[in-house]
Amino acid sequence: MAADGPKVQWELMLPHEMKAALEACPTAFVPLGTLEWHGYQNALGLDALKAHALCVRAARQGGGIVLPPLYGGVGGVAEPYTVVMEPEPTFSSHLLEPWLRGILAELKRIGFRAAIVLTGHYGASQQIAVRETAVRESQRLAIPILGTPEYLLAMDAGYLGDHGGRFETSLLMALHPELVDLSRLEGPPPYRGIGGGDPKRESSADEGERVSKVIVDRLARLARHMPRWDDTTRTAFIRAEQALVSHQLELGGRAGDAWAAWHDARRYVPYGEWVAAERFAEIEAMARLP
Ligand SMILES: [Zn+2]
Repeated sequence: MAADGPKVQWELMLPHEMKAALEACPTAFVPLGTLEWHGYQNALGLDALKAHALCVRAARQGGGIVLPPLYGGVGGVAEPYTVVMEPEPTFSSHLLEPWLRGILAELKRIGFRAAIVLTGHYGASQQIAVRETAVRESQRLAIPILGTPEYLLAMDAGYLGDHGGRFETSLLMALHPELVDLSRLEGPPPYRGIGGGDPKRESSADEGERVSKVIVDRLARLARHMPRWDDTTRTAFIRAEQALVSHQLELGGRAGDAWAAWHDARRYVPYGEWVAAERFAEIEAMARLP
């Protein structure tokens, strides 16, 4: 990843740099991932590496400070070298939710006025736990907190989420080219432990850059604007996010399977554009469709 642009990583900052960055834009990025098989061609830390690198680019563009990524979450594929901190299916997390509540409360205490929790790992349960905790803490801490997987911000760019397939491989090729080796995929597909389009035929750094740009532009806009939202805007945001997570819980609950919430994933296609443009009433209406 290019080392250009201002310093935005918390752990690399000296106190005076932190003070200046926080005064310029009091938004925290909290990247989440895990350690998980992503095919023979990708580094095992893909989810956290991807989320962190996207947050760093967004902070350089729009402001804000990026926390170190968390490696570990809910679920994971049944393949080698994969850490499953809590198995799926579940609709909550005994580890991730309290950790998020703790870190978010600390961010508020330290002076942040908005947070974006970006999960690069997106089992169904992880997505629900992250969004639901973000909504709850937005109310409890009275600052806007967005909790979302990165693909939800770029579904209108064709990225519906995959696992080490066309898109995740392309993103890693763009963000960390040294960590992808397509020559490790031997023979014809299907390839072990990946889902989505064939990375050998469909993945490229250009494709990763195209999708990254959509996600980063939207994150940067949010990072810049969220600390300045008034209570009315924050309430509209919370209503929209609450409707979204309620819809996911309802569908998952009825089917007894957290993944059922994504069976109608196409309804979420405009979400990325709408959330960045603060069109919360439209998100709420979309989530409330039968
Ligand atoms: Zn992944």
